[in-house]
Amino acid sequence: MKLLLENWRKFITEMEEPITTLRIFDFDETIAHTRSETRVKAPDGTEATLHDQKEFEAYMREAAAEEGITAFDPVDDLIELGYDIDLSDFATVKDPEEITLVTDIMREFPPDSKTFVMTARRGKSLGPILDYLEEIGIDSSQVRPMATQGESKGSAIATMLGQKIMPDGKSNVHRVEYYEDSQKNIDDVLRKVCENPELDDIKPLDFELVINKVINNEGQYNIQQIECNS
Ligand SMILES: [Mg+2]
Repeated sequence: MKLLLENWRKFITEMEEPITTLRIFDFDETIAHTRSETRVKAPDGTEATLHDQKEFEAYMREAAAEEGITAFDPVDDLIELGYDIDLSDFATVKDPEEITLVTDIMREFPPDSKTFVMTARRGKSLGPILDYLEEIGIDSSQVRPMATQGESKGSAIATMLGQKIMPDGKSNVHRVEYYEDSQKNIDDVLRKVCENPELDDIKPLDFELVINKVINNEGQYNIQQIECNS
């Protein structure tokens, strides 16, 4: 949470520049395919290895339902209940395969835009992610890293819209381009940024949210665009 706040603070001071577009990239399975696994041991002794985001989300959703947990991110509550959840693979970038369909877009930095990597990873994951970007030839000094530590990306983006309000009462952000593979996160961003009536007053009339869903079909990637003009 501390890193997230630090990055917001940096974001505010940078708002002196004329920024109209935010480009926000998820990391795992959006910028790179990695071999990160999550190993879980439930209090009843059953063990599971979750190989990807889909398996991770399915396991957490089921366990949360079983335990009556309603938090957006149930991991902390499950740990408290005695689940042993090993996320250590996510402290590094493990066996990455670059998803060039996305990184080719990322490495062009359009004027009047700011580029973010927004990961739900926990802990000290941002250093390895920035190192990896350098490795694949992306100037990491032009990228602002944010770790939501499992918390809602929709809330984080909604907060970013409210950070700089122009004299007409509207946000300086006219366009958000969001690259993401997780349907859970996409649904959350649609709810909290696209359909959120609380943002109606600050959204410029031409506000656009363009969600680029990164889909992996057995190693063949494509992007499905989901638009919101509300
Ligand atoms: Mg992802």
